[in-house]
Amino acid sequence: MNLPNCPKCNSEYVYEDGILLVCPECAYEWDPNEREEDGLVVLDSNGTRLSDGDTVTVIKDLKVKGAPKDIKQGTRVKNIRLVEGDHNIDCKVDGFGAMKLKSEFVKKL
Ligand SMILES: [Zn+2]
Repeated sequence: MNLPNCPKCNSEYVYEDGILLVCPECAYEWDPNEREEDGLVVLDSNGTRLSDGDTVTVIKDLKVKGAPKDIKQGTRVKNIRLVEGDHNIDCKVDGFGAMKLKSEFVKKL
């Protein structure tokens, strides 16, 4: 089996310890099966981390620019996609279509 170099110090002497890989030079341990962090951390109103594909509910009525009505509190939004920026959730809301929401106004189901 071909083990990767240590991500911290680039040592070649990495060995396996159970499910973890261990670097003997800098003592770093990691799980090679854990998904790489993409750096985009989006938290909901409770501080729970959101992921692409999550379903969330809206926690307060939200005004929508150009729409005749608000998105009501409790509206369920499926299959969100996380994006960079102030409005960090890209999604489709029934009756409104594609839009971007702020994660602080939603809650993960
Ligand atoms: Zn190392």
